[in-house]
Formats: sequence, C-alpha cells, structure tokens
Amino acid sequence: MPDKNLMEKIVSLAKRRGFVFPGSEIYGGLAGTFDYGPLGVVLKENVERLWLRMFRDSRDDMYGVDAAILMNSKIWIASGHVEGFQDPLVECKKCHHRFRADQVDLSRCPDCGGDFGEVQQFNMMFKTFAGATSDSGSVVYLRPETAGGIFANFKNVVDSLHPKLPFGIAQIGKAFRNEIAPRDFIFRLRELSQMEVEYFVNPSGWEQAFEEWRKAMHLFAEAIGLPSDSVHELEVPDTDRAHYSKRTIDFEFDYPFGRKELWGLAYRTDFDLDAHQKGSGVNLEYQDEETKEKFIPHVIEPSFGVDRTLLAILASAYREDTMGEETRTYLAFAPKIAPVKAMVSPLLKNKPELVAKAREVRKELQKVHSAIAWDDNGNIGKRYRRQDEIGTPFCITIDFDTLGETPNLKDTVTLRHRDTGEQERLTVPEIANRIRTAIE
Ligand SMILES: [Zn+2]
Repeated sequence: MPDKNLMEKIVSLAKRRGFVFPGSEIYGGLAGTFDYGPLGVVLKENVERLWLRMFRDSRDDMYGVDAAILMNSKIWIASGHVEGFQDPLVECKKCHHRFRADQVDLSRCPDCGGDFGEVQQFNMMFKTFAGATSDSGSVVYLRPETAGGIFANFKNVVDSLHPKLPFGIAQIGKAFRNEIAPRDFIFRLRELSQMEVEYFVNPSGWEQAFEEWRKAMHLFAEAIGLPSDSVHELEVPDTDRAHYSKRTIDFEFDYPFGRKELWGLAYRTDFDLDAHQKGSGVNLEYQDEETKEKFIPHVIEPSFGVDRTLLAILASAYREDTMGEETRTYLAFAPKIAPVKAMVSPLLKNKPELVAKAREVRKELQKVHSAIAWDDNGNIGKRYRRQDEIGTPFCITIDFDTLGETPNLKDTVTLRHRDTGEQERLTVPEIANRIRTAIE
C-alpha cells in the first residue's frame, strides 16, 4: 500500500540528520540529483563495502575494476545504447512541457489540458565533447551503466590474471541517465551509482550460475536488513525482455510509493562480448585450457542500483513508537551497515572523573570499530533519542557506579539497546564483544 506520508517523513529525516540533501540546493537545486551528507556517505560506503566483501573479496572467482566514466563512443554504438537507450517523449503543443509518453495520459496535457504532439524517442545518454573541438568526432557520453567498463576490460583481465571460467568482474561506480521525469527522491536519478557484476560462464553452465546469483542476491538483501517479505522476484516475460536475454528476474521492493524495481538479474547470452568483438575488431574469445575449445563466454549480470538500495534500507528501517510517553522515531539499521556503531557518553559532562573514564571506554571500543560516537550534550534521554534517529544500535553510559560508588558494579557500564530501549549492566570487554558480534 503506497504511503505518501511515510515517504515525506523519510525525506525529511534524511535531510534533517545529514543523510541525503537535494543537489545544488543553495542554487535552487538540480532535478534528478541528490548529495549524500555526513551520515549518508558512511551508510553508502558501508553498503558498498559489504557488497564488495560478499561478491568480490571473499571469492576466488571474482575480480574488480574501476573503469573511466568517459569511454570511446564506439563502445556505446556497439552496445546499442546510441541507437536504443531511449524513452518515449511527448511535448504539449500549448505549454511545451515534456513528459514520458508511458507515464502520462496521452489524451491531454496534465498541466494545461492542451494537446500533445507526436511521441518521439529521446536518447537518455548525456553527451559532451572531449578536447578542444566540438565536432561529431569528439563526442563522448557519460556512461549510462557501469557494465560497459567491465566488458571493455574483459580481455585485459583475462590476459593479466588468467582466470578460469566461470569468473566474474565486479565494479562500483557512477552512471548517468538523462531521465525525462526524475522522481521519487533517490529512486530515479539522473546521476546514480551502480554495483554491477558480469559473470562469465561456459554457455552450458548458465542455469547453475544464474541460480547461484539469484540466491546470493537474497543473501545480500538479508545482510543489509531488508525484510524478506518486502523483496519480490518478478520473472520478466519473453515479450518484455531484451531480445538477447534468455532470462531476466527483476527484484522488486515495496517502497512507500509502491512495488518497484530494486535490482536486476539477467542472462545476457554472448550478446555483449560478441557485440564488442565485432565493434572493436579485437578477438574476445576465451580458450578453455583443457579442451582447447575457443568460444565467446556467456554472461550472467546481477545489477544493483546503490541509491535505490539505500532508499529501500531507509524505508525498511524507519520506525515510530512510544517510549516514556513520547513518540520516538528511530532507524532500525542492521548494525553492520549503521553509520555509527555505538555512542559513548558520561552521565554528567561537568564531572571530570566521569568524562575521563568515558573517554577511556570510547578509546577501548574504537579498537573494535572506529565509528564510536561521543555525546555529552543535554540530558541522557535526549542523547539516546538523537542516536535512535540516526540508527545507532548501542549507547553506552558511564556513571558513578562505573567509578565504584556501588562497589560490586565498579568498572561496569550501561548498555542501552536502540530497538527496545532496554538497558543492561556489562563490563567494557563484554560490550566490545557485543559490538564485534553485531557488526560481523
Ligand atoms: Zn500543457
């Protein structure tokens, strides 16, 4: 059920607490762009790091690249983007406002009631010029997807590291799409980040690889804290699939504005490498060492939009409840992606012995993870609420019992849990263990 109110609350909290800001805001903004603030950038990095760890670093069959955003335009001719990466566009004859033809009632303009002209195809790639000339020979595009940089480096990776099939190349980076109608906060952007894998297989092994990636994508959803009942597989029917794809699954998520695409998993056959072999004139065949058979590998492509993943995380984590007769808002982030892992606080900031002990505790916990915040501002309840709102899983308070006022509690501190507000009394090494376990 779409929940407009929830969307507004998420956008407002994201701005208020420094997760996501509108792009170029002091100049009135730029549609389809958003900037990540101090907490948002850490959340984004945590998600990307987890993805790299799961899909690149912990596997022997995966390699990374970081390709240039600007690429020889021939790559986008070969991939079909120059010809076909387009959306249908209509313009109102009266007010000249432009709309995506598949998102508007074509009988009349929603803004002024005027008539529309013919539907035209609008290419979504951003075009610019490399060098001091601006003729057709110097045209370059901001890449519309990161995959191009992976295919262009397939031969380099094979020649330098000699991987055996099946193997994959992973990349995280920016991509650009000149959307006619950017919308829904960080869901549909003109500048976005992608996490993509091209997994190269012998054609006889595509089904097994596809199934393994399907499962791996669900594991990633679980790892970043998306509830399994909010992630849905949509088997894309033949008629809607790209002509070269033999099977595609859209992973959809229940956003506050409805069920929409989150990630994609596609079996792309040998379409890409074959197109780049033809386009470049360079042989992109792979030779099997044992059978000596030469062929163009087939590709399984799991593709993840970073920004819409972050939106799914924010939407899943957003909670309101009543605590101490007050309404509180908190973000129930999975500890491993939470931007701040714990906050350490002296009960009173004007008692030097409490402050000194709290500093010592913080330093100790920072051996587990560097993202341990400090807050000695205002009363303790307010400090907890501030951390709840940014999704900090643990708050640790140092009080007079820590210093030995109650002898049997000496060197213990209060650990307060974000989701329940429950508190327990533990030693610092015990707390270090709790944090370590939670973020593993
Ligand atoms: Zn109009």
